[in-house]
Amino acid sequence: MVAAAKRWGLDEVPIAPPAPPKVKPRITARAGFEVDHQEDWGLPPVFTTVPTKNKVVFLTIDDGSEKDPRFLQMMRDLKIPYTAFLSNYLVKDDYGYFRKAQSYGNTLNNHTLTHPYLPGLSYEEQKHEICDMQDIMQKQFGRRPTVLRPPYGNYNQDTLVAAKSCGIKYAPIWNEEVYVDHWEFREDDQQLRRGDIVLTHFRGRSDWDGTMVDDMRRFLNKVTREGYAVARLEDYL
Ligand SMILES: [Zn+2]
Repeated sequence: MVAAAKRWGLDEVPIAPPAPPKVKPRITARAGFEVDHQEDWGLPPVFTTVPTKNKVVFLTIDDGSEKDPRFLQMMRDLKIPYTAFLSNYLVKDDYGYFRKAQSYGNTLNNHTLTHPYLPGLSYEEQKHEICDMQDIMQKQFGRRPTVLRPPYGNYNQDTLVAAKSCGIKYAPIWNEEVYVDHWEFREDDQQLRRGDIVLTHFRGRSDWDGTMVDDMRRFLNKVTREGYAVARLEDYL
């Protein structure tokens, strides 16, 4: 692992995560992020942090335009788990890239067909965006996701009702976003917290000034320096 960290230019060796919790945390909607009938209709909760005492964060990677083979290799070499939220219009030219990510033990989840602003759509249109993506993922990756990330983190009650109707149980968004050259925090204190969900994107030089490997180096250097391990989100759901 020392050699792998060195090869990918990390400051330190990433911290190995603790064993997955035997009893899964009870995940509820973040305060202020609930919709009407959230609890009594059993709608998928929207949350930004997983309740845990473990010093871990969760890495989530969205959209799918950039398909950098070095990124797959880096995460594999360093044994860093991540969850990918895929939008079909960006991944359909190369499902194979994401099958490879999946074969390395990472989970692929739903980020809609065309990445629309969901609250601007009717219930039926939202259901098409979410549930038809479920069908595509089943066909292409052999598994129906149970996790949806609404594009831009925007949703309404119809989003969660539609998502539930086709098997979605969770709708995590994020507490931090990492870019190739900076971080953005949801909380005013600009600090990582235990159980935080971190967002980044499948983006490369056509979108920003660096590669996915550069982006991951920034992410890993900060979390390791602050004593956090990267854990698999699905292990806590
Ligand atoms: Zn997105």
